[in-house]
Amino acid sequence: MRWSRYFIPTLREDPADAEVVSHKLLLRAGLIRQLSAGVYSFLPLGQRVASKVMQILREEMNAVGGQEFFLPALHPGEIWQESGRWYAIGDEMFRFKDRKGTDMCLGMTHEEVFTTIARSEIRSYKQLPQVWYQIQTKFRDEARPKSGLIRIRQFIMKDAYTFDVDRAGLDKSFNDQREAYKNIFTRCGLEFLIVEASSGAMGGSESNEFMARTPAGEDIIVSCPNCGYAANLEKATSRLNEIADEPGPAAPEEFPTPGVRTIEDLTTFPGGADANRQIKSLVFFATIEGESRPVLVLLRGDHQLHETKLADSLGSTAVRPARPDEIRELLGASAGSLGGVGAKKRTAGLRIVADSSLKNRRNMTTGANKDDHHLRGVDVARDISVDEWFDLRTVESGEKCPHCDSGTLEVFKGMEIGHIFKLGTKYSASMGATVLTQDGKEVPIVMGSYGIGVERIIAAAVEQQHDDDGIIWPKSLAPFDLVVTITNMKQDELRAAGEKLYEELQRAGFEVLLDDRDERAGVKFKDADLIGIPYRVTIGKKIVDGMVELFDRRAKKSEDVKIGEVVAALKQDGRD
Ligand SMILES: [Zn+2]
Repeated sequence: MRWSRYFIPTLREDPADAEVVSHKLLLRAGLIRQLSAGVYSFLPLGQRVASKVMQILREEMNAVGGQEFFLPALHPGEIWQESGRWYAIGDEMFRFKDRKGTDMCLGMTHEEVFTTIARSEIRSYKQLPQVWYQIQTKFRDEARPKSGLIRIRQFIMKDAYTFDVDRAGLDKSFNDQREAYKNIFTRCGLEFLIVEASSGAMGGSESNEFMARTPAGEDIIVSCPNCGYAANLEKATSRLNEIADEPGPAAPEEFPTPGVRTIEDLTTFPGGADANRQIKSLVFFATIEGESRPVLVLLRGDHQLHETKLADSLGSTAVRPARPDEIRELLGASAGSLGGVGAKKRTAGLRIVADSSLKNRRNMTTGANKDDHHLRGVDVARDISVDEWFDLRTVESGEKCPHCDSGTLEVFKGMEIGHIFKLGTKYSASMGATVLTQDGKEVPIVMGSYGIGVERIIAAAVEQQHDDDGIIWPKSLAPFDLVVTITNMKQDELRAAGEKLYEELQRAGFEVLLDDRDERAGVKFKDADLIGIPYRVTIGKKIVDGMVELFDRRAKKSEDVKIGEVVAALKQDGRD
């Protein structure tokens, strides 16, 4: 490819609206351009990188028995209504009606479509297992698209689905995919970790996320450097120090607390209590089976609620904090004076859930459900009718690892680059995809689903591998293997040597970009650094001695090589 003819619109300056590194560099290096919020075009250089990612995806999926499909992006609403997700998913799904008034949507994932195929074609255990995948466009109407390719509304996904006759089959399929994912991210040159995650609206029993560690990520990861435990914050747990409570009075005692509105206020109030001796009381409405129900949530005063944990624990598709008027209606006081003692007497049917760290605590302080009043001497087991105990609190950096004796947890940001789910029978049962077992019994097919975002891989690679001068592509994703830079196009000798080397390298199987533009050498070097091609061969003055310069973009080192030995030198360095 000749740079003079190739479309690489590089930018000198950082675009004003770009915040994260990958967004800036992908725009500046001329790989992408924005069409509208969260919708991007791949320009030729970007398309070359995306193609490399997709090729790796295909190879690794095929290696675990994957069969490639290509399904429609345009779906009838009907199949999503059958699975129930039409109702469970909110505004993030693009929905509309066709000219006949039929509900339609743009696919966010393809569980429903693949299940539709499986239920009409697969009858017997003898046809299982099946491993199906595709690389295809998906849509998601993000409320706040941002960060370039990190949070977008149209994206390319490799999604795979496995179909097995039983749980043991699913376990094997899941493990195969997990291994394939490790190979994929390793080959893409990413630093990643595998974490326990919430399955959310996808459903199922178990899920793992693949996370690239980067400050540009939108997920928070908790990990133990000692034993390797890693989980998304929405799923992470930790081990707390035991607190020994002094015995309290025989019954809770009410006391006036004028002006006390927060946990913090009560810690400094005369006769108050430390935050870890207080009970925090929060009122939420949870949507469960399409109905919105009030829930009183109790936590230790110094702990923070994680709303995804609450939703997952309740089996709810959405939770929201109650409004002040709703709180008063339910408990008869404002948010600063709430508590679990006697709450059920006030509101019949109120569900009370508590974080496990409150179990067996006594002599605690909490709101009295009466403005400007609190109760002290509360014994949780004796005084509060807790319906269910869950892990609801947000883990914090420095807490103890739940899996080993001596580990201390670290909390950092990561970007989700892949997510794999054991779906079980959620879709096959609701949509009637069954098979006959060896014993002639009819059972729902046991499914798994597995997704990787192509744009996320590209963004993660740039976030993790760049410097002040631009992108440093891993060899496996680089749009070209090398650039041959002719420093001065006006000198016939340089031009002829560059052209000859360009031909020779292509014959040797390299993907070569020949910088034959009529530009100053400095401009050419800057552009080559910016677009991040792994090697640059510079044809300059030393050509009179038959020498060229071989520059390694990552190491930022160059060496003089005889022009006849460039191919051998590159081969020795190895190409992925
Ligand atoms: Zn540990």
